[in-house]
Amino acid sequence: MIPARYGASRFPGKLMQDLGGKTVIIRTYEAAKNTNLFDEVYVVTDSDVIYKEIETNGGKAIMSKKTHESGSDRIAEAVENMDVDIVVNVQGDEPFTSKKGLQQVLEVFKGEDADSIDLASLMTEIDDWKEISDPNCVKVITDKDDFALYFSRSPIPYPRDKNADVKYYKHKGIYAFRKEALMDFYHLPMRSLEAVEKIECIRYLEYGKRIKMAVTNTQGVEIDTPEDLVEANKLLKKEDKKSVNNKFRNFPMVPKVVFGSGSFDQLLEILAPQRQENAPFVFLVDDVFENNKALTDRIRLRFNDKLIFISADEEPATAQIDQIVKEITSEFKKKPSGIIGVGGGTIMDIAKAVSIMLTNEGSAADYQGWDLVKNKAVYHVGVPTISGTGAEVSRTTVLSGPIRKLGINSDFTPFDQVILDPQLTLGVPKNQWFYTGMDCFIHCVESLNGTFLNAFSQSYGEKAYDLCKEIFVTQSISEEEARAKLMMASWHGGMSIAYSQVGVAHAMSYGLSYVLGTKHGIGNCIVFNHLEEFYPKDVVLFKEMVETHDIEIPKGLCANLSDRQMDKMIDIALSLVPLWENALGDNWQTIMTKGKLKELYLKM
Ligand code: NAD
Ligand code: ZN
Repeated sequence: MIPARYGASRFPGKLMQDLGGKTVIIRTYEAAKNTNLFDEVYVVTDSDVIYKEIETNGGKAIMSKKTHESGSDRIAEAVENMDVDIVVNVQGDEPFTSKKGLQQVLEVFKGEDADSIDLASLMTEIDDWKEISDPNCVKVITDKDDFALYFSRSPIPYPRDKNADVKYYKHKGIYAFRKEALMDFYHLPMRSLEAVEKIECIRYLEYGKRIKMAVTNTQGVEIDTPEDLVEANKLLKKEDKKSVNNKFRNFPMVPKVVFGSGSFDQLLEILAPQRQENAPFVFLVDDVFENNKALTDRIRLRFNDKLIFISADEEPATAQIDQIVKEITSEFKKKPSGIIGVGGGTIMDIAKAVSIMLTNEGSAADYQGWDLVKNKAVYHVGVPTISGTGAEVSRTTVLSGPIRKLGINSDFTPFDQVILDPQLTLGVPKNQWFYTGMDCFIHCVESLNGTFLNAFSQSYGEKAYDLCKEIFVTQSISEEEARAKLMMASWHGGMSIAYSQVGVAHAMSYGLSYVLGTKHGIGNCIVFNHLEEFYPKDVVLFKEMVETHDIEIPKGLCANLSDRQMDKMIDIALSLVPLWENALGDNWQTIMTKGKLKELYLKM
């Protein structure tokens, strides 16, 4: 039984976090199942989201009451009416649960003293005083036959004699109970020792039960904090590197693209073969065009087609996607023939996400991560009206969710069709032109200077970089030519990161955006301005461009942040492991510490 509560006080929603392309809870479930030690494996949860996650992945889940004092209570409720002898409790946040540890805890019931054992659990020797004195680490002491004497958050035993030879053991949260012991636990009230230490297994001792401990040296990673998640992803990556199948990415590209000034007028013709009876095309259009009749007239709605204006004032959010999908599905019986996004990166991402969510159930937040989307999206078309993000060509749609800012990265995300019409970018205000254009420049810099670079990324990255220089530095071309070239630079920049990754500026910009709502393009500029240390020659070039075009870069954004905001910003930035690995290599954590990040943010 895997008790899985959605809200965890230290790291809410941690079980639904991404761990190498699957959620933490799925990893744990599969690990337990793959041991082949159990007749049945269940996740017991208070959360619809987790329940669905397990069910849709072919696992077994049981809903329990919301209010339980502990994981043991939760599984006790679930097994109360089941006919079982031994129940094993595997923590939901232990995705690397090994067969060895579980085997050990079950072996205990085969020993000579089995009859006198009510439950069994595991412990690992620790010798680092920092860990021994850490109250988050529960210590256990045993008698000569390895029965637990006491569990505590204090160091036990207390080392009055510093030279005495004593071993310290950390308790690991894996239990095997006889059903009667578990039911007793469920029905007996908590007593004072358990209450004060906040360690549930003390209840067994307080009622005279016998807990047999087995020593294990398997190193699990428990996900208690965002840093643990970073560690876990690293561990997984190491394992992944060993498997050849994961070595080369196989990703889809946009299959159809039309380019040219005025090409937008071909839209109707392009859509016609995709139209299904009674199924509308839904146009999601940046509301900057709301009073621009010249543009909206060119969209030429037919039959029950629908145009929805959408504001790009804020970064796209999962709740917003859910809302738009609801609006569409409640108005139309049939799924739309297609979704057409007309606008900047914001609208591109919204169009991609909406087309995915029309064929996949639940909330967009359920799909933030890598390859979580199950069904092919509705046909979707991207028509960019500002250039730089590469969102028109990428395999992701970046969304702010309840817990994090992360893309829906999947083979179903890219557009089926893109229309690149440089004329559409005519009215973009100068500052915005620069911010979004710099997103492209920064994509190139981060890709070209990253450790993931290969010839594929390099060829696109170099081209886009040169185009950016032509547009923003030498300025030897006409405005019309510059618009066309920036559109292609955006495309190439997007392609460059398809096989690579972005880096320091993006990781930090995501932090700004999550906490302060700073928009992507401007956020990148704010950050990049201070990254001489990482991208020396390109930051110099960037500053030159800022000056040439007389662009304002806001300053002092982080000066008045509360500690909590700053911590959150740092957490968000640090959780983007692949970005840091690309930028700084495998040992990035020794370079980019929390302190270092804070110092950088304060400069901004
Ligand atoms: P945007 O879409 O937020 O638009 C910026 C501003 O320009 C808005 O006010 C918009 O109304 C206005 N605008 C757009 N076209 C215009 C036009 N033709 N005339 C006048 N005004 C116009 O800006 P953006 O920089 O293109 O996109 C940023 C978004 O893209 C962020 O949400 C970011 O997360 C996302 N992004 C996604 C990817 C990806 O691969 N999916 C990559 C990079 C960025
Ligand atoms: Zn970007």
